[in-house]
Amino acid sequence: MNFRRNILVVLAGLITLASAAPALTASTRPRLVLQITVDGLRGDIPSRYYGRLGENGFRYLWEKGTVYSDAHHAHANTETIVGHTTLATGAQPAVHGMIGNVWFDRTENRTMYNIEDDRYRLLTAGAGVDKDTEIDSTQKAAESDGRSPAAIMVTTFGDELAINTAGRAKVFAVSIKDRGAVSMAGHGGKAFWFSKASGEFVTSNYYYDTYPVWVKEWNARKLAAAYSGKSWDLLHDKGTYLFGNADDKSWETDLAGYGRTFPHQFGEAGGKYFTTLLTISPSGDALTLDFAKELITNEQLGADDVPDFLGISFSSTDYIAHIFGPSSLESEDNLLRLDETLAELFAYVDEKVGLNNTLIVLSADHGGPEVPGYLNEFGIDAGYATPESWDKAPAFMALKKKFGIDKELISGYNHPYVYLNHEVILKHGLDLQQVEGAVAEELLKFEGIAQAVASSDLREGKVPDTPLNQAILNNFNPNRSGDIYVVFEPHWFINDFDGLTVAATHGSPWRYDTFVPIAFGGMQIPAQHIQRRVLTVDIASTLSAFLGIKPPSGAAGKVLEEVLKR
Ligand SMILES: [Zn+2]
Repeated sequence: MNFRRNILVVLAGLITLASAAPALTASTRPRLVLQITVDGLRGDIPSRYYGRLGENGFRYLWEKGTVYSDAHHAHANTETIVGHTTLATGAQPAVHGMIGNVWFDRTENRTMYNIEDDRYRLLTAGAGVDKDTEIDSTQKAAESDGRSPAAIMVTTFGDELAINTAGRAKVFAVSIKDRGAVSMAGHGGKAFWFSKASGEFVTSNYYYDTYPVWVKEWNARKLAAAYSGKSWDLLHDKGTYLFGNADDKSWETDLAGYGRTFPHQFGEAGGKYFTTLLTISPSGDALTLDFAKELITNEQLGADDVPDFLGISFSSTDYIAHIFGPSSLESEDNLLRLDETLAELFAYVDEKVGLNNTLIVLSADHGGPEVPGYLNEFGIDAGYATPESWDKAPAFMALKKKFGIDKELISGYNHPYVYLNHEVILKHGLDLQQVEGAVAEELLKFEGIAQAVASSDLREGKVPDTPLNQAILNNFNPNRSGDIYVVFEPHWFINDFDGLTVAATHGSPWRYDTFVPIAFGGMQIPAQHIQRRVLTVDIASTLSAFLGIKPPSGAAGKVLEEVLKR
């Protein structure tokens, strides 16, 4: 054997491999990862209206992609920041730290909003939360307009993509809700969200020192104000809707003259609730889509072989379900319009990047409950809980007497946690664990409460290994969780927020709140429906495996192998 010839053969082989490798990478790696979150889209909703959907929206994913029809969040507090951060990081809230939309910070001695950060400020002065008109009570907890992802304790998929590509991957997220965008953008990406105060998409100086020119130009078009004097009307003839004869229901919220029936008038631009009403209509999603399209073009997402990431969180479905309920004519019409919004997004991405070069995943940050009044029509028990009355209830007056306490014992309830008055407990030389246990025991006797778990029991591993307790444990972060986790009975929840009464509120560990769609599409992913129970933490692990990068630092999920078999 000629040594020299052997070398040549080996070299020739290496050259073949070298020339084949980049082509292989380019054809199997997406140019764009598009993570769509539909805020509050329960897992059954797309199939409920399936016969009415167009071919290119939901049905593009449902018929050409891989759909998991039994997907759930595994944590107990199914709120927006909790779910979004779980989708972004693949970690449980116990690990990513976003255990609720708000939590009581004992060192600061106040309730914190999840992404508030007074080290940063909004780039637009006066575009922060207007506490007079804000209907999202969690937003009102923030003491500063600054926003950042600092409280998220692990990396997101977008972060890992940036790390893997030496920062060449562009990572962006956009949503009506600040927490919908900040969570998906992670630490290394850039987030834009809608300011109801200014009617513009804004960001903070965590992300930018000044706005990119295209953002200034988009805001200068004043698309929100263009809805002045307009209304939300039905897309189709009323008689064609499942809820066509159920528009006017007593449990629907009539917010600031918006009314319980179609058409819903936005009023004049500049009106007190004008921009708020836009977000409680499909127009909020339409604005989000328009901004996202502009972002894709101007930031040149998917334009080269380095994969980019875009997170889009559509908020309208959630707001509309809160105000009118998920089984309402409003929610039905919104779903049909969301289907059109998705079709427009997919068509745009196809034109700019190509759907064969784009990996799409769609899911939701939580599902949602039916309205008690609607369930009562079917003989199902349902009702509204009132935690503010607990401390004054006879059972707690008796308990306080037993402990020799003459002040309030329950200092607050920030869903889903009861916070005890540690100062009083300390002053009376009481054992916190013992008091937590006694309070939990009393709470269990209240109407509408299914479970009350003391945090000291969670810390010491003293709770029985049941599915419900596992979900509570997945939500337990020792530094942020309160003293007692309260689970209301199925279909019981709080609906009064600083005087604003809403039709329905999610946030429970019950199946209607944990159940979400998970659908992958684009990139010639196989068309299949998988019935196996999967979890939302699986998404980040699957995206990471698809791209061959390491999973986010707290990722707890399994790779959904069906997506990778191409
Ligand atoms: Zn939400």
